[in-house]
Amino acid sequence: MTAHQLILKQRAELLAVLCGGGSAEPLDCVLDLLLACEVLVWEDYLSIRVVEKPLLSNVRQLLDVVYDKGEDACSLLLAAMNQVLPEEQKAGLCFGKECAVLGKNRPDTATLTLLADRPVLVRKLRDNIDGALNALLTTGCFTIKDCDAVQLPVYTPSQQVRRLLDQVRFKGETAAKTLLQYLEQTETTRPNPEDKENHLSANCLLYQKKLRSSVAAQSHSLSTYGGTGRFSLDDIYTDGLLEVMDGSGETLTLGLEDVVGPLGTLNEDADTVLVSGEAGSGKSTLLQRLHLLWAREALLTNTFLLFPFSCRKLNSEHRELSLKELLFLHCCWPDRGQDEVFQFILDHPNLALFTFDGLDEFKQGFTDEERHCCPTKQVPIPILLFNLLQGTLMKGVMKVATSRPQAVGSSLKHYLRKEVLLKGFSPGGIDCYVKKHHSDPAMARRVIESLQANTVLLSLCHIPVFCWIVTKCHQELLGGQDVIPQTITDVYLLVLQHFFQRKSPQPQGVLGKAWLEEHLDTVLKLGQLALEGLEASCYVFSGYELQRNGLTEQDVSLGFLIYCNDLSVTDCKRYEFLHITLQCFFAALYVVLNRNSDRSAVSRLFQAQYRQLSGLSQRCLGHCIDSSVEEVESHVTETPNLQITAQFVSGLLSQRHHNLLLECCPIAVRERKVKQVVKSLSKGMQRHFKSIPRPVEGEKKSMHAMPSFVWLIKCIYEMQDNSIARDTMAKLDVEHLKLTYCNIGPVECTALAYVLKYLRNPVGLQLDNNSVGDVGAEQLLPCLHICHSLYLRNNNISDEGIRKLLENGMKCESFQKIALFNNNLTDACTQHFALLLKSKQNFLSLRLGNNNITSQGAEQLAEGLSYNQSLQFLGLWGNKIGDRGAEALAAALKNSTTLIWLSLVDNGVGSAGACALAKLISQSKTLEQLWLRGNNLSPEEEEELSKQESRLTF
Ligand code: ADP
Repeated sequence: MTAHQLILKQRAELLAVLCGGGSAEPLDCVLDLLLACEVLVWEDYLSIRVVEKPLLSNVRQLLDVVYDKGEDACSLLLAAMNQVLPEEQKAGLCFGKECAVLGKNRPDTATLTLLADRPVLVRKLRDNIDGALNALLTTGCFTIKDCDAVQLPVYTPSQQVRRLLDQVRFKGETAAKTLLQYLEQTETTRPNPEDKENHLSANCLLYQKKLRSSVAAQSHSLSTYGGTGRFSLDDIYTDGLLEVMDGSGETLTLGLEDVVGPLGTLNEDADTVLVSGEAGSGKSTLLQRLHLLWAREALLTNTFLLFPFSCRKLNSEHRELSLKELLFLHCCWPDRGQDEVFQFILDHPNLALFTFDGLDEFKQGFTDEERHCCPTKQVPIPILLFNLLQGTLMKGVMKVATSRPQAVGSSLKHYLRKEVLLKGFSPGGIDCYVKKHHSDPAMARRVIESLQANTVLLSLCHIPVFCWIVTKCHQELLGGQDVIPQTITDVYLLVLQHFFQRKSPQPQGVLGKAWLEEHLDTVLKLGQLALEGLEASCYVFSGYELQRNGLTEQDVSLGFLIYCNDLSVTDCKRYEFLHITLQCFFAALYVVLNRNSDRSAVSRLFQAQYRQLSGLSQRCLGHCIDSSVEEVESHVTETPNLQITAQFVSGLLSQRHHNLLLECCPIAVRERKVKQVVKSLSKGMQRHFKSIPRPVEGEKKSMHAMPSFVWLIKCIYEMQDNSIARDTMAKLDVEHLKLTYCNIGPVECTALAYVLKYLRNPVGLQLDNNSVGDVGAEQLLPCLHICHSLYLRNNNISDEGIRKLLENGMKCESFQKIALFNNNLTDACTQHFALLLKSKQNFLSLRLGNNNITSQGAEQLAEGLSYNQSLQFLGLWGNKIGDRGAEALAAALKNSTTLIWLSLVDNGVGSAGACALAKLISQSKTLEQLWLRGNNLSPEEEEELSKQESRLTF
């Protein structure tokens, strides 16, 4: 039968398969191929693909147009369909003689090249649309409007690429050339998905389809919104702040697509990317988003199979498994051709991606002692997992693991390709999240306003899990609570109350004052389960375990426990707490409210941290553990959870919650526990203070904070008792407090300021390389009076944060130095520095390197400098002050009798500026060094100036 006849005879079937599932993708793919091999010309394409018409009529038009073009065209159409359609849809159809759909000669214009390569380009550009649009925008080929029209969210990524290609064609040859150039530059070494598709069997494709659909189902909604059914991940997902440190120590900001990409790679030989962040910073949610986008083919399009694992669930796998069993039993079972599918994975490791959520929750700490590389041999799960992470097993498979930072030891770091830090929401992210949560804009506005009025609460919202609670409990918040939430304990009490209220039989769900007492029984049962779980690194519970703790269905229906969302093949229901922090909160409630707990439970909880540090087991309360096992196993997983629990215990025992706890816990018991907490905190601090080395002669007495210092500070903050903070700090006698790289965000700043404000003598507070941000900077204000120096290098601070900091700093007598290297400062903040310099005649050092200050900013600074007679150090390295700025500074500083050091390295300063500066230094009696390297001066000019003045350094 001729192709002509085949088309006519099978018209109904061809129509059905090309419209199958309602997606236009198969039709679009066929059209791409037919355009590429010139069966269709552009005008045909426009007449066929009319978006306003139903898909069926588009397909009919295609069949008609091609039919009219004759036999060759018909056979190419059939060949194109044969190539595009999945095997199962082709059953029963006849595509005639085999023929390849190939482009003819290489086209000689860029526009025609785009047409000839269209099928490949659609695939290549799918996860690179932003980059391509950017290239077109910056070269002026596209306007913003063009970009918006391409990226309308109703289109799938492939459709967006086709719109992009159509628009480029419309714009003409220059646009087409720009796009081709962009593609040439971005051609990566990743395998071409086409190669893989040529070798794919029907079984592999079927498996991929099944895996995609189970991953999509599993990642579609967030567990914290589980019961409500109100939000899908699409509705609520808000981008978090992702950072990576590159080889030169520079921090780069990443997008979700860069997590697996090359940006920030430190070790090319390793295949494991670690995403680390504190509890609740959104690690699991980020992985979930990656999974969902992969399942929809919207991201990671070069990944053919993605296998998601949860470490907390792997904890309950006690069998020895082979790699094949791990993949198929824990993720998705192939219905056909298991061996073939597995062989495909082994043969193409670069097409697979494994994700491991919550490495910190895996019972056993990472070791690389036992090597295992056989994919078919059964071994215990830890060996399998650790060898996968190391790359001993399945080298070449990309792995993404998430963990809290504390749980990642140096042995694992050795095997990391890169470590991506997830820092929670930015201030804009918080707004965006609240707006997504509340469909009513007026309500969203009220919540945002209430957060802005309570900056402590706002700072908490940088951590997404707190943001979720605060937004969820907006009614309680806006309704005016007795206690305005200030601490994380306050926030978790709010959510506790909210959940009980939801189930309250009273009209409007109003809870009485004694609501905690009314629900004490449930709280204690959940608390015991939570605590026992934490002690045993157990975060998933069977129905039997719930029963053993006396938990009824009614208790479960309150919503604190949820069913595990699980891909693995198990036949019993399993439960977990809504979030690990909620498990810690219930554990803390149990420690505080349980009348039968042994007397030293509280002290032991606090001491657990130190036992771990000294290498002993950190089991804390030990009532459900076999003590013989205790000493042998080396665990790291519990420590962060026990620290959070201890923080909640401190908060619950705060005087603020005295009334709430009154009927639940005898006063004497409560007071005993309070004393124990205070003693533990004081002892913990003493340990730190004792570790302070004696100052080297001529240097300041300095303390570099140990890991649990910030935790102790946070516990003191939770207690909200000034006298405790004052008494603890009275014993700290240092001149410099170093807290660099300590994951200090806004929440930690609140606690630090609360405690440090009681220091007896001024200190230098060094917070370089954290995530303080504007909100954190504002939180530091209460302790500014006790800081003689504030080091905030690399902290994401912008003009607004600086404005507030300086307004207060100006009034603080001791405040003399500030270092703000590598933040987001612009000319908008220099007026505040000018004011500071004018009004504070004891200010010594101002370092503003690597920001975005231009000549205008320098002129403003100069204005302040001309009135100042105290500044000794001025650093402006890596800004853009140019000649004008340099001249202004030189003029302003000519009367300075204090300036010792000035850096204007890398500032675009030319001869005019340099001459002015040379004159300044030649007249100055104090200036010892003026750095001018990396400016717009010729080597001859530099030599000449250095000869004139040796204090000028290039
Ligand atoms: P982690 O794994 O770091 O402990 P999760 O991902 O479990 O944190 O986040 C806890 C909760 O915070 C989520 O269940 C969700 O309600 C909220 N959340 C976290 N990240 C996001 C995000 N990117 N967008 C929206 N909500 C988020």
